[in-house]
Amino acid sequence: MKVLKFGGTSVGSVESILNLKKIVEGQGEPVVVVVSALGGITDKLINTSKLAVAGDETYLTSYNEMVERHHQMIDAIITDTKKKETLLVTVDDLLGQLKSIYQGVYLIGDLSEKTSNVIVSYGERISSNIVAALIEGAKWYNSLEFIKTKHKQGRNLFSNSVSNPLILDLFRDFKNGTATHKVCVAGGFISTDSVTGEVTNLGRGGSDYTAAILAAALDAKVLEIWTDVSGFMTADPRVINTAYPIERLSYVEATELCNFGAKVVYPPTIYPVCIKNIPILIKNTFHPEDKGTIITSQEEDEDNGRAIKGISSINNTSLITVSGLSMVGVIGVNRRIFTTLAENGISVFMVSQASSENSTSIGVTDDDADRACEVLNKEFAKEIEMGAMYKMKLERDLATVAIVGENMKHTPGIAGKLFGTLGRNGISVIACAQGASETNISFVVERKSLRKRDSRLILPV
Ligand code: ADP
Ligand code: ASP
Ligand code: MG
Repeated sequence: MKVLKFGGTSVGSVESILNLKKIVEGQGEPVVVVVSALGGITDKLINTSKLAVAGDETYLTSYNEMVERHHQMIDAIITDTKKKETLLVTVDDLLGQLKSIYQGVYLIGDLSEKTSNVIVSYGERISSNIVAALIEGAKWYNSLEFIKTKHKQGRNLFSNSVSNPLILDLFRDFKNGTATHKVCVAGGFISTDSVTGEVTNLGRGGSDYTAAILAAALDAKVLEIWTDVSGFMTADPRVINTAYPIERLSYVEATELCNFGAKVVYPPTIYPVCIKNIPILIKNTFHPEDKGTIITSQEEDEDNGRAIKGISSINNTSLITVSGLSMVGVIGVNRRIFTTLAENGISVFMVSQASSENSTSIGVTDDDADRACEVLNKEFAKEIEMGAMYKMKLERDLATVAIVGENMKHTPGIAGKLFGTLGRNGISVIACAQGASETNISFVVERKSLRKRDSRLILPV
């Protein structure tokens, strides 16, 4: 049994959704299909809410465009009249609910997180019904019933302990081979709170995660992520136009690349399948013949691989530097920095500290930067007042680049080559970090250094 996930572009056009049908029906073994909303619909659902809450009546035009888009898709792909009628009853009922919610938002002028979550869920609720009707003999499953979240630290986090028994129960006959249907279809991304039952979601790009959760719970042979590129590439193809697909990656390498902005796989996706040793195959819906990328534990060819597998970058980086002579040798400064940031829900994605210990630089997102400075200045107010430490130094408009490869640890000279190339191209490294596992070297540069031409020159892939 396999789990196949199709992203927004794969269900976004008549051509791609018919490719999906062909791919799924050609499997010859039971499959679970997880789908995203039709490409662009999640953004449009959000933008329409913004218009409605602002009292802008063009929200209705925007809503009608979404209705039109779904109707056109159904007309083009579902040829059986009876099937089409049944599907339209379901889809129009969902669209009708959505219209009433928008109307409420418009009239009251209020858009709570709860309402936003309900609105954004309609994309996958509708697309999954369309795909279930399209595929011969498929059965639709309601993800809101079995993907459960718990509210923690202001966020909705997936709960494995609540979801797993529900999945095993709902998919029991399919899993043990007694079901009459060979294809299950479910919407990705959407979930409900395990206590209140309110609609939640797994975060933007979260359909990959839904698919991984199902693959792990049902012990799938493989998790296939079908998208619009022919695999995990050496770099973001929109940043570096010479990027090319990587044939094999380890779970560790894929995690490092995703965490540093490789959008092709949503970062939390890898863990559930990695612990069950289920391979992930990335494939192109538009070119199914292409090989794609296989992600495994990769123990078998540890010595043959290239040193650097890929490069990722995050654009919106700010760097905060905590410095002062009082930090030298003082035990507990780092504990205070990280506790303060954690207590304020600020995530740190890079840390760099020289062994002289008189400064620690922390990479955070631009959105968190001001707040991070504020809470750190408050935490160290006494030391700053005494002159033992400086006020936090904030640098904006930066980017973080990570080069990743498990075999870097067996290859001397990578860092030398990297910094040499950067230097020759006049790019100054503002901060740099390498974990002792040596699978990732990250460095912070000015954002403008990420420009296409420069990147192609500097990146030694
Ligand atoms: P889907 O809608 O199928 O989930 P996404 O847009 O989320 O697709 O992810 C695919 C996109 O990720 C690609 O079109 C590409 O632009 C981008 N991307 C960023 N980094 C990489 C990378 N290293 N390899 C492949 N694609 C990448
Ligand atoms: N539709 C959601 C989004 O656009 C989830 C996904 O596509 O994975 O973020
Ligand atoms: Mg995606």
